[in-house]
Amino acid sequence: MSELNAKKGTTSVWAGETERFADGATTTPIVKSVAFSYDDLDEWYAVATGKSEGHIYSRNTNPTVHVLEEKIRLLEGAEAATSFATGMGAISNTLFALLGPGKRVVSIKDTYGGTSKLFLEFLPHYNVEVTLCETTDHEQIEAEVAKGCDILYLETPTNPTLKVIDIKRLSAAARQVGAIVVVDNTFGTPINQNPIKLGAHLVVHSATKFLCGHSDAMGGLLCGEKELVKKVYAFREINGASLQADAAYLIARGMKTLELRIERQNASAMIIANYLKAHEKVDSVFYPGLEEHPGHEIAKEQMSGFGGVLSFSLKGSYDSVKTFLPKLKLVHLAASLGSVSTLAGPPRTTSHVELSEEQRALLGIPESLIRYSVGIENVEDLIADIEQALSFVVDNQ
Ligand SMILES: *Cc1c(COP(=O)(O)O)cnc(C)c1O
Repeated sequence: MSELNAKKGTTSVWAGETERFADGATTTPIVKSVAFSYDDLDEWYAVATGKSEGHIYSRNTNPTVHVLEEKIRLLEGAEAATSFATGMGAISNTLFALLGPGKRVVSIKDTYGGTSKLFLEFLPHYNVEVTLCETTDHEQIEAEVAKGCDILYLETPTNPTLKVIDIKRLSAAARQVGAIVVVDNTFGTPINQNPIKLGAHLVVHSATKFLCGHSDAMGGLLCGEKELVKKVYAFREINGASLQADAAYLIARGMKTLELRIERQNASAMIIANYLKAHEKVDSVFYPGLEEHPGHEIAKEQMSGFGGVLSFSLKGSYDSVKTFLPKLKLVHLAASLGSVSTLAGPPRTTSHVELSEEQRALLGIPESLIRYSVGIENVEDLIADIEQALSFVVDNQ
């Protein structure tokens, strides 16, 4: 494992690829082999027992997958990294490997839907105590952490209202009680935000989103302190939620343009947020880049860009959303985010479909909210598209 000491754009391209590949290939070979052979039994034994570097069996490690792990490790400034079949694979393996009966985790109400299901259903089943705090109530989170906990699990900015929480402040509180800080950095991306530099022990990613960036592969990543990553890796190696070489190749390939895409998406999202803010048919806009966003000051401190996802609500009822969304032409109405093409949808049919209208209201999610994940299209075209679609929304809907 080598350190590149390069900037992020360079790191995205070269991490894991500085050694010459077989035959002088200039891009990562997709190694589909399940098992790796050794002529020398002593060498085989040394690799199998972790005394030498090398690969034995692709459920554990694989050369193509390793390239991807190196990219996230160096981009996040971590000691070690490992990978999973999906983002939920990364999150569930991390929580199940590091928690157990009698342990306690403190988190927030606004985590990703799947994560929140782990907290509300699966972890309590194994006698893990789960406390979910109001997402931006830093005092409440600190007070719960101070009572003692094993993991503080954070996600910022959150989905879909882009709430921002102070990673540095809460990591310091968690470290005082010896808790491990885990941050889901999917929305931030390593280009805009590096939780480890702010005090987190571990970072998880749904690589399916911005890292892959093309909506054509799923994966999950974990990086951070070596001993902790090793513990989670040991669990994943046995439960088998391993990433396939083909998917790892697509994600690593996507990551080569990560900085270019994120810079573009940051800039376009900011322009679109300002455009929507001034539109008479738009009620509220949620984007951490806007000065009036309640998390703006914290975001400015801990992020170098505000990300490619924003959300906004229309004046009127859900009917205005039903009129507006299908009129958009430059968008896929779909559940995911972070792709080169713009994706949009209402939380009530995507991320928060399992909640009732009252539960969504309690989370501060208006029924007429739209999540809009900005792609890399030209922003003038996206705005013209929104403009024409909004013209179909009539006042009394
Ligand atoms: C999508 C997502 C996940 C889950 O990732 P999958 O790859 O779909 O399993 C976790 N966290 C956040 C913030 C996400 O957006």
